[in-house]
Amino acid sequence: MRRLGLNQGGYRGEQIDPRALQFACRSAAVRSGWAVEVLPPAGLDRLAFYRPAKTDGAPNIYLSAGIHGDEPAGPMAILRLLEEDRWPDAHLWLIPCLNPDGFCRNTRENSEGIDLNRDFLVPRSVEVTGQVEWLKQLPELDLALLLHEDWEANGFYCYEINLGGRASLAETLIESASRFCPIEHETEIEGRKVDRPGIIRPGSDPASRPLWPEAIWLAVHQSKLTYTLEAPSDWPLMPRVDALVAAIHAALEGYFQLFPVGEAASGRLGTPEPIGPG
Ligand SMILES: [Zn+2]
Repeated sequence: MRRLGLNQGGYRGEQIDPRALQFACRSAAVRSGWAVEVLPPAGLDRLAFYRPAKTDGAPNIYLSAGIHGDEPAGPMAILRLLEEDRWPDAHLWLIPCLNPDGFCRNTRENSEGIDLNRDFLVPRSVEVTGQVEWLKQLPELDLALLLHEDWEANGFYCYEINLGGRASLAETLIESASRFCPIEHETEIEGRKVDRPGIIRPGSDPASRPLWPEAIWLAVHQSKLTYTLEAPSDWPLMPRVDALVAAIHAALEGYFQLFPVGEAASGRLGTPEPIGPG
């Protein structure tokens, strides 16, 4: 597989129709018994899907994609996962497309030029305001997986936010993605030093950042373990989707190995660090 070399100054690859993609997600979800919701505000036509676990004490797991409108592989990975219907026994919440207006324009930002993934500290966009309102109704999340792409990257990589010092899923997730696309080899990515190849573990107080992405909001308010997965979007679209899907399966399987149901609270490996402003 070769780098396409299309991404000059931004993402220049294949695009998706966010409404058609969400329609396909809804069809697959309804066939498999998921509940369908619309994220506020309703006029943005953003779907969310929920399926309850069968077992008491099963974990709460959240996946989101499509917060950047020039990153099509994430929404496509959610569609693939819904069509495969191979999920662990967990309470599952899925959002395939957080920024439909961005996808209509192939822009990272929403229609007002706001980067939604920097808008979570004090939200000013209707998209993030509505998403946060919706997220606050969910219980505490055991695992959150946020799907992204990077148009400049040389390979797949991930960010881990693990404020409680729990066992990590990053290595298994990267290993699985590597079967489908290269892993980023740079030792510094987006100005941050890598911990292992393809794995960024931001400093001890990510909440001190002035512009919060979804991952920081989740880590501070809602999620015990949060991964942002970044596929390299200068490679062909299908291997990027394959890599994201493989990484998600690895993270879900790895989660249940590390934290068997009923023992989730014992998964802590260290002392929790202070999590900054709430
Ligand atoms: Zn992104």
